[in-house]
Amino acid sequence: MLLKTHVIFGVAVGFLAMRLGAPPAASLAAAAVLSALINPAMDYLGHESGRRVPRTHEPMHAAALGAAAGAAAGLALGLHAAYCALAGAAVSLSHLLLDAFTEHGIYVRRGWRYRRFALAHLRYNDPAANGLAAAISLLVLAAGLL
Ligand SMILES: [Zn+2]
Repeated sequence: MLLKTHVIFGVAVGFLAMRLGAPPAASLAAAAVLSALINPAMDYLGHESGRRVPRTHEPMHAAALGAAAGAAAGLALGLHAAYCALAGAAVSLSHLLLDAFTEHGIYVRRGWRYRRFALAHLRYNDPAANGLAAAISLLVLAAGLL
């Protein structure tokens, strides 16, 4: 998906995770920071020669990166580091969920090898898919803030 779609979807998912231990405004602010940090990092570190690689596009790697970035951001912002780590992992896994719907999919580990996995084979910039993910994100945020 497009980076902006990853970011808004990550804000929604991170918001839900942060709501487990923080009030709505702080949850939204933290989720926005985490999503804006983690999603570009995942795509920057997770591509070589224009192709996705398992470094960040494999669930365990993504969760570890997201949790570490979330904990660090939580400590820097003075928020509860454990909830930020949980939210960071949720943001990074939400990135993989959306990428699993694109034509190159994500990687999953089978034994000592990585295999590609995809739920669908949409183009990363498919307008309908990006619009649907953004609309779901906005609905989740609206429902969580009301
Ligand atoms: Zn990606």
